[in-house]
Amino acid sequence: MKVCKFGGSSVADAAQVTKVCDIMLADPERRIVVVSAPGKRSKTDSKVTDMLIECATKALASEDTEADVQALVERYASIQRDLGLDRAVVDEIEADIRTRLASDKVDEGMFVDLMKAAGEDNSAKLVTAAFRARGAAAEYVDPARAGMLLEGEAGNATLCEASYGFLHNYLARVLASPEKPIVVFPGFFGVTRSGAIATFPRGGSDITGAILAAAMNADVYENFTDVDTVYAVDPRLVPDVRHGIREMTYREMRELAYAGFGVFHDEAVMPAFRAGIPINIRNTNHPQLPGTMILPNRSVDECKVVGIASDGGFVALYIDKYMMNREIGFGRRVLQILEDEGVPFEHMPTGIDNISIIMKGSRFDEEHEKRVLARIREELKPDSVYCSRNNAIIMVVGEGMRSAIGIAAQATKALSKAGVNLEMINQGSSEISIMFGLSENLRAKAVAALYHEFFT
Ligand code: ASP
Repeated sequence: MKVCKFGGSSVADAAQVTKVCDIMLADPERRIVVVSAPGKRSKTDSKVTDMLIECATKALASEDTEADVQALVERYASIQRDLGLDRAVVDEIEADIRTRLASDKVDEGMFVDLMKAAGEDNSAKLVTAAFRARGAAAEYVDPARAGMLLEGEAGNATLCEASYGFLHNYLARVLASPEKPIVVFPGFFGVTRSGAIATFPRGGSDITGAILAAAMNADVYENFTDVDTVYAVDPRLVPDVRHGIREMTYREMRELAYAGFGVFHDEAVMPAFRAGIPINIRNTNHPQLPGTMILPNRSVDECKVVGIASDGGFVALYIDKYMMNREIGFGRRVLQILEDEGVPFEHMPTGIDNISIIMKGSRFDEEHEKRVLARIREELKPDSVYCSRNNAIIMVVGEGMRSAIGIAAQATKALSKAGVNLEMINQGSSEISIMFGLSENLRAKAVAALYHEFFT
């Protein structure tokens, strides 16, 4: 059995929804389809999820949302009309959006999640209607009823382990019903133990798909998007990239996805990995192409480096103190201060007399910065402590690096030839990636230099 997930661009308009149905119906093994909310139809268009967030923000500020509701309903209505579906499905969608909008707003995070979830939920209802209009048996499944139990903070929820069993039992029952329907499952959200709707981080429909593939022990998790393959670098940074990746390992994908490979969510790797299910990234617009396979192992002979990823918006905290290495508990106390502020850290390269801590700027604003610096000065008496914002990280990733000598040297040489000043270098103990920290404005130049060094 195959679990398939279609991203926002694959359900953005009627022509795309038709492709989704064609692909699903072309292979009887494709029994479960996870859908995103309609995405952009053109560069200047808006994603339904972004429209919903804007609408929720206005509602929280007690501003008028009527135009937003109409624009949202029209996104679904245009698909309904172009597919010649019965208008009833859009009436149901409109009623749903209005009910959500009128619900309790005391917990703002919870309210925004409830609104965001409307994008995928209604997309699934519309896609179900599209299958049925073609005479195919299809069943919309409500994640809350199916047992997609989540926990954690709003907009950033994670799965409760017990969900796998609940989902398995529920979906097995639906799939086995006499008409053998295709299950249409909305991505991106689930329900908490207290019955509130909660969402995964942005882009989280990939996570839903991976969870269902694991719960059902699928033969493969096909993740349909709008590129033919995962490229060795982000084509937005290196437009002339030609090198598509045919095979990569779960660990490589996790590292690349974490560091900005937007094609697949980093948190979607683990559920498939743990259940041993291959992930196949494919293009809805070219379903005849094989795409990229993500597997437990790959042959590393041909390419030591599989990809180069980069992401911006990081903050670096630098602390210097002579003989820090002799001061037991120094690192713990720094991290305790961050913990007290509720700030997670991403990387922590250290030296004898210094520590640098890299955090996401979105989790460490200027108010956090003021408080953290003041506490470090007061409690740890460093020689110096300061923060720099607007940093980028670049990850050079590849299983083959473990056994190869000189990859770091090759990378730093290429960067120095390109005139890129490095702020830090970090190699994780897994030795399948090297991280470079640098100023945001050097990012594109650095990625291009590394790409040409390793791939052309
Ligand atoms: N619609 C959600 C987002 O835009 C989730 C997804 O598409 O995966 O983030």
